[in-house]
Amino acid sequence: MRRIYLDNNATTPLAPEVFEAMKPYLLEDYGNASSIHWYGQQAKAAVERAREQVARLINARPSEVVFTSGGTESDNAAIVGIVEATRSTAKHVVTASIEHHAVLNTCQALEKRGVSVTYVRVGASGVVDPDDVRRALRPETVLISVMHANNELGTLQPLEEIGRLAREYDVYFHTDAVQSVGKVSVDVEKLGVDLLTLSAHKLHGPKGVGALYIRRGTALRPLLYGGHHERDRRPGTENTAGIAGLGKAAELARADLEGEGRRVSALRDRFEAGVLRAVPLCTVNGDPARRLPTTSNIRFEYIEGEGFVIAMDLRGIACSTGAACSSGSLEPSHVLSAIGLKHEQARASIRFSLGRYSTAEDIDATLEVLPAVVEQLRSLSPRYKTAGIRV
Ligand code: PLP
Repeated sequence: MRRIYLDNNATTPLAPEVFEAMKPYLLEDYGNASSIHWYGQQAKAAVERAREQVARLINARPSEVVFTSGGTESDNAAIVGIVEATRSTAKHVVTASIEHHAVLNTCQALEKRGVSVTYVRVGASGVVDPDDVRRALRPETVLISVMHANNELGTLQPLEEIGRLAREYDVYFHTDAVQSVGKVSVDVEKLGVDLLTLSAHKLHGPKGVGALYIRRGTALRPLLYGGHHERDRRPGTENTAGIAGLGKAAELARADLEGEGRRVSALRDRFEAGVLRAVPLCTVNGDPARRLPTTSNIRFEYIEGEGFVIAMDLRGIACSTGAACSSGSLEPSHVLSAIGLKHEQARASIRFSLGRYSTAEDIDATLEVLPAVVEQLRSLSPRYKTAGIRV
């Protein structure tokens, strides 16, 4: 069976060039980057090369890039690190209700330690209003953490405006840019962020490696205790192969960011137009304009998302009901609830996410089977039948 992967927001396939860049550090150049002999120096050179490649992708200085085990660790390190480095007794954090759990659960853990947190709400657009962020600020606010692109809807947040607010009120600003780095232009200067999280496996790099951008001069209490790696900012022997892979993935993404963005958004638009034409009673969730080029979240009234994902999988097509880490949960996605969807609307919503290896053939083959899958699921729905809908 031909398989089609439309779940690139969960993770992306490793680029072959990335695999080649990693291989030497798994085989012959296996040294520890802290060792002073030849083996160590090979590893150290690979780590420093990757630091430059990542820095170039986000317009940072290499010294501002710290390698971590991925997006979750970077989010934790940024938020806890800023809060713990601040001396004042009353501390307040502003974040958004649509953040990934790596941010939300970190904030909730801080609340248990006495830190107060404001979760700014969003409307149906799935975009944070900077005025709401301004209204949430207090004299004791130490950090604003607002994601760049939402992982479920793909909606892009107004970081430049929030960055200006952070400067005006002299508050640190972190963004979880896991879903946007490598897909749209990410420039730490333009966005005005002090800390930025990224993860290799969302840009055709390996899993289990990421980075945290820390603006020069930002005081951060490290999350872990250990050796003096990463200039005392993140202890632990460097994952040389993973880091080399992240560097190569960053270089590849930067080489054709605009062209690839145009190509994928054209495919995404072709997909959406095809679905909306062929399937009645469906709606695109979130702001259709302020979005990643890769993501489409569509609500098919009167279907059960899990059933849809399974039916599509049986036909070789991989898509998702929302964040991969929340799949299997019976609760509707917090993001879809946050944009005002009712329980059954949230459960009827499907995320399709494209990537570098998505093709027009993939889209057309998906469009060939999708309407019949929706129709079949609806024919089994008592609510659909009692609604007496004829289209
Ligand atoms: N933040 C966002 C927005 C994500 O989509 C993800 C992964 O799904 C993460 C953080 C976590 O990243 P990682 O899987 O590298 O820990």
